[in-house]
Amino acid sequence: MTVKIGLAMGRCERCGRVYTAPRPAQPVTCDCYKECPICGAEMTPFNPGVIDPETYRGQETPLASTKTDVQDADWRLDTLYYCATCDYYSSQPPVEVTLE
Ligand SMILES: [Zn+2]
Ligand SMILES: [Zn+2]
Repeated sequence: MTVKIGLAMGRCERCGRVYTAPRPAQPVTCDCYKECPICGAEMTPFNPGVIDPETYRGQETPLASTKTDVQDADWRLDTLYYCATCDYYSSQPPVEVTLE
């Protein structure tokens, strides 16, 4: 590949999206981490830090009401995004794409 017009290029290693920018290029953050890998819907930010598992267990929250057994819930402490469409919990961090 020959770069003729001073464009830096990078590919997201997760979703394969290609980014280009004029040099010198800053790394870009691919937003595919917000996309549900199951159904493709945009996921909702999920912050387990505000839900302590001990209190969570005893409360009627919108999340808890979707789970009959909280101990079997799919979210973990590193869960970042939640898909309301298919109940998927993602711990995929943002992917930074280096353009070169
Ligand atoms: Zn991506
Ligand atoms: Zn989904």
